[in-house]
Amino acid sequence: MEGSCMQRKMPVERDKCSGCFACAAICPVRAIGPEEDKETHHFFPQIDHSKCIGCGRCMTVCHALEKNKMYFEPIGAYAANNRTEVRLISASGGMFRAFAEYVLETGGIVAGVRYAGVYRCEHHVAKDIVELDELCGTKYFQSEISEVYEELEQCSHQYDLMMFCGTPCQAAAVKKYSGMKEFEDKLFTVEVLCRGVSSAFVHRKFLEHLEKKTGKKIADIRYKEKTKGWDRIGTIVTFDDGSLEYVSSSENYLAKLAYDMNLSVRESCYSCSYKRKERTSDVTVGDFWGLKDSSLLDNYGTSFVLVNTKKGRDVLDRISEKLDMVPSDVETVISGNKYGFNRISCSSEDRRYLWKQLNSGADIKKVTEDIKKMEDERIEHLKHTIDRDNKLLDFYEKWVTGCSKGESVSGFLIENDFRNIAIFGYGTLGRALRKTVENNGISLAYIIESNEKRWDESTEFYKVTDALPSADVIIVSAILDYEEIYGKLRGRVSCPILSMEDMIP
Ligand SMILES: Cc1cc2nc3c(=O)[nH]c(=O)nc-3n(C[C@H](O)[C@H](O)[C@H](O)COP(=O)(O)OP(=O)(O)OC[C@H]3O[C@@H](n4cnc5c(N)ncnc54)[C@H](O)[C@@H]3O)c2cc1C
Ligand code: SF4
Ligand code: SF4
Ligand code: SF4
Repeated sequence: MEGSCMQRKMPVERDKCSGCFACAAICPVRAIGPEEDKETHHFFPQIDHSKCIGCGRCMTVCHALEKNKMYFEPIGAYAANNRTEVRLISASGGMFRAFAEYVLETGGIVAGVRYAGVYRCEHHVAKDIVELDELCGTKYFQSEISEVYEELEQCSHQYDLMMFCGTPCQAAAVKKYSGMKEFEDKLFTVEVLCRGVSSAFVHRKFLEHLEKKTGKKIADIRYKEKTKGWDRIGTIVTFDDGSLEYVSSSENYLAKLAYDMNLSVRESCYSCSYKRKERTSDVTVGDFWGLKDSSLLDNYGTSFVLVNTKKGRDVLDRISEKLDMVPSDVETVISGNKYGFNRISCSSEDRRYLWKQLNSGADIKKVTEDIKKMEDERIEHLKHTIDRDNKLLDFYEKWVTGCSKGESVSGFLIENDFRNIAIFGYGTLGRALRKTVENNGISLAYIIESNEKRWDESTEFYKVTDALPSADVIIVSAILDYEEIYGKLRGRVSCPILSMEDMIP
């Protein structure tokens, strides 16, 4: 997208926009507001040109437009568990809490994510340790972040250390904003490794499904609940009557759509420039799935920590006594988190289907099951195609080998006195067979081919359902479907029905 923001609806192309809203926060005349996408329900900035003064600040702050991002090669990698029970309310090893407590204890402030009701989540600036509980635990859909920029800017006049924790694109956006507002030195960024972020709409649909199933209203939800073990990736839901329900990973339709199938994530996540070994925040934390045979693995969640800057190193050193921590390496971290470090993709057909169905009010369970079925059918079809291609290759190899030894299909037919033949199937192999035999003095009685587009004037064509004239033999050129075709023809013709393979020893 070329040109100034005076000609644009938003600072960057829609498919590159991560929804960080730094553009809205920096705009001096508040000309940028949020607009909800009608299909995916993700939010995008919209410039109101009646207010815009063309200053260009929204484009300068946009991290997605920055061509030369500052990436850091990690200088340390660790496996770590927070020593306290806080791990029980954290998604991984409780590293967020460990960093956050340090920052608050040294007189700083912490921006993290809390629920805003049960259907939404938002970035919130905590100034006191009691506020940390609601920031603990990962909310696996996009947080509302627009208010946090100005709040951090205000705080920067009063606080010397300000921690921001969010997805890598959010952390990069806050960093860029802080650079333009000259408080970057005070910022400490902790990014959570991110496979992609779903719209809050899908989280809502998941909750509505659970509410409909139980007939109760949900009061609280915690993803990656650990009472049955971290590796079970369960979810615990609290209803307004105080009862609880454990939802297993197989019933977590948000996770299936967003993280198993990559379908409900934001479009920018498919071309995310933060999915690489080099990082843009001070530290990166995530689930250490690649860790094996470690005493840290007690099934209450273990984090990996990548230290990317000197600031990250200083803070980690200061909190290390509160952690059980062992050194590791970046390759081991990446090995267990392929899609946090590499780009994801999805079937566009499934994505269209998902939004169409969810928007028309279909239940999320049914939509997920439908898509899974569509995927399974595609895999089956692919397997069938590969199987057929392999058989074709095998057959061609045998055919060529036979020819090189002086054996030929025509020779076989003449030897068996099949001089007037019919061919079933007029695809590649059927056409090759016809050429071979006609060049060797064998006559073609007719071809059985149901697809009329393959018919031509040069011979007689019949469909399999037609009454078939006599011939010395029918040769089935559809290698994979011989058994089925044989079943259809048997009893309807008096001649032998051979497969291609019958003619090649
Ligand atoms: C959308 C998303 C996808 C992720 N995908 C992966 C992955 O593929 N592989 C992997 O190893 N790790 C992934 N993570 C990170 C991982 O799940 C944990 O969030 C991370 O390890 C921190 O866990 P913790 O125990 O240290 O702290 P927690 O207490 O779980 O962390 C809480 C803090 O994390 C941040 N956070 C929580 N929810 C959000 C949100 N919706 N948006 C922005 N920030 C949020 C906030 O700062 C919050 O205060 C993902 C996180 C998110 C939000
Ligand atoms: S160009 Fe300036 S005034 Fe116009 S929308 Fe962007 S930041 Fe706002
Ligand atoms: S990526 Fe962020 S700054 Fe850029 S247009 Fe989108 S919301 Fe605005
Ligand atoms: S995958 Fe990339 S673009 Fe998408 S939310 Fe995560 S960090 Fe942002």
